[in-house]
Amino acid sequence: MIERLCIIGVGLIGGSLARALREAAYVKEIVGSSRSAEHLQKAVDLGVIDRYDTDAYKAVQGAELVFVSVPLGAMAAVFEAIKDALADGAVVTDGGSAKASVVEGVKKALGTMPAWFVPGHPIAGTEQSGVEASFADLYKGRRIILTPTAETDAEAVKKVRAMWEATGASVNEMDVEHHDEVLAATSHLPHMLAFTLVESLARMSEQREIFEYAAGGFRDFTRIASSDPVMWRDICLANRNALLAMVGNFRDDLDDLTSAIRDQDAGRILRIFQDAKAARDAFAG
Ligand code: NAP
Repeated sequence: MIERLCIIGVGLIGGSLARALREAAYVKEIVGSSRSAEHLQKAVDLGVIDRYDTDAYKAVQGAELVFVSVPLGAMAAVFEAIKDALADGAVVTDGGSAKASVVEGVKKALGTMPAWFVPGHPIAGTEQSGVEASFADLYKGRRIILTPTAETDAEAVKKVRAMWEATGASVNEMDVEHHDEVLAATSHLPHMLAFTLVESLARMSEQREIFEYAAGGFRDFTRIASSDPVMWRDICLANRNALLAMVGNFRDDLDDLTSAIRDQDAGRILRIFQDAKAARDAFAG
């Protein structure tokens, strides 16, 4: 059980962790912090946190565990703000969607990679944001990836693993670079495709008609284009090398399909679609 947990960034990810740990009776007190007192007061009103301080330096004091779930572009500044306020033995982890940029940011802010920091990423989320969108079951049955570095203390990893397991999630460990490559393929590229498709259609002169006649397929494919633009801008920039490699592969494959359509190569088109259906059915099953 955690005596005092501090959550910096009480939005969808941080708020859902708070709700899940409360439901599991795994935490005694939760202190929140972010820029807006109004957002934090809402989190108190919803019963997600017990109290808050907009000054992260003050919020982390006396906390046994600190979870940082702010947009990637704000991570390094948070670590800079809290580094001298942490209690002895405190463990810090995060939920950022790309890991190399967070690790680099922490190293830069602290001048070294601290043993008490366990980089992490819950593979769970929705296209909604803010504490109002948070819910206790978000992590149930989902995977959490921890990416400890050579410097990370094994006991700190154990503590973070136990916290996530209390939410009903299962925990895997991976190295930072591998995490960023895998997530570029499975999450970051699909978001880029959804954002680009919707933005491209929205610029067409007949856009009203296009959206009027769009059906379930369009809705399914584009749901994630409703995700927070700031968060996704940060992810794009933070994981740009792995993402650019995936975009390059995808562009080649799209060119291949385009040629098959231009050449009226029915066999090739069918093979691409059959392979895709088999892979998708296996994944969904
Ligand atoms: P969110 O709902 O928008 O919450 C972000 C929180 O960070 C808000 O409470 C915001 O509150 C606070 N914040 C923003 N800028 C800040 C700053 N400069 N300093 C301090 N607090 C700040 O976003 P989220 O979806 O929970 O995402 C949080 C993190 O989780 C991101 O790093 C994201 O990459 C990662 N993640 C997201 C998902 C997903 O599907 N959404 C999944 C896995 C991981 P104020 O406005 O009051 O500052």
